[in-house]
Amino acid sequence: MNLIDIKSLTCSELEREMEKIGEKKFRAKQLYEWLHVKLAKDFSEMTNLSKALQEKCREHFELTVLSKVTMQESKIDGTRKYLFGLSDGNVVESVLMRYKHGNSVCISSQVGCRMGCRFCASTLDGLVRNLTPAEMLEQIYGITRDIGERVSNIVVMGTGEPMDNYDNLVKFVRMITDEKGLNISQRNITVSTCGIVPNMKKLADEKFQITLALSLHAVTDEKRKELMPIANKYSISELMEACRYYFEQTGRRITFEYSLVGGVNDTQADAEGLVKLARPLNCHVNLIPVNPIKERDYVESEKQCIQAFQNKLEKNRINVTIRREMGRDIDGACGQLRRRHIEGAER
Ligand code: SAH
Repeated sequence: MNLIDIKSLTCSELEREMEKIGEKKFRAKQLYEWLHVKLAKDFSEMTNLSKALQEKCREHFELTVLSKVTMQESKIDGTRKYLFGLSDGNVVESVLMRYKHGNSVCISSQVGCRMGCRFCASTLDGLVRNLTPAEMLEQIYGITRDIGERVSNIVVMGTGEPMDNYDNLVKFVRMITDEKGLNISQRNITVSTCGIVPNMKKLADEKFQITLALSLHAVTDEKRKELMPIANKYSISELMEACRYYFEQTGRRITFEYSLVGGVNDTQADAEGLVKLARPLNCHVNLIPVNPIKERDYVESEKQCIQAFQNKLEKNRINVTIRREMGRDIDGACGQLRRRHIEGAER
């Protein structure tokens, strides 16, 4: 018999499962609290359930817990990069960033990625599989257990394209923000997408209060196609229309992510193009100096270029920040750590 992935069930789904196995509904609430508030790793910890019920749970359910394969801590800023093992032997990476305003965790949404962005290490070996809601939750639970402190912010910006794993992503958002679980504020969650237009609109219709970040990286379709294969499918004008729709439906300001690549997208003309796209949307622009990966020959923009790019946006009253670099000394860029791990295992 196939075991049910209990940690991917919402509380009401769990109630139905309890009834199916002849248990009272209220048992679901107790189980849900053990799983999603007390972050139990095993049924045996659930001391207000009888031994018989714990055993019954073991027969019907599997309990997803990630194993900590490695953890590196930056000596510069305390950023921690975790490599977690999944039950099928795959690994994913997650990052903890410690800010004055709280702990922020960046999670992966897939094992690998099939979007093919040229500068990104996560996509070099393609997509292996989607992560389940439980595996996304467990990245946060694992880090919470490890540091013994609350995580208050989540960014879905690790390996994978969240809009390519839409249903699991939405379920994850519902569960991590559930008041019966960790109850993280929707406003403290950011989901980043390379721009899968139909799912951006679908997400808008969920009417969450989460922030949607669009990885733009170029201001003309031509240049965007060079950097991101997804641009062959959706044009910038379709993307802007989807962003407008997201704002209309949720009232949440969009973030544009723009990775500056030396000599590719960092000219004053690019900055002007970005002003034109950003202004009508009243969005926030996040500039990311590209983090070079050894498999590609993209380089960082010159310091003056980055400064001039930012100045151009500011002069035009566009809200802009340069992404603070964290954890440069510990394989900062997406997918680097997992890749290094796999390469090491192959050798
Ligand atoms: N698939 C999602 C989320 C993952 S990546 C997306 O595309 O948005 C999070 C951000 O980091 C994206 O904007 C991505 O384009 C960017 N990124 C990936 N590799 C990078 C690198 N080597 N240097 C700078 N930014 C990178």
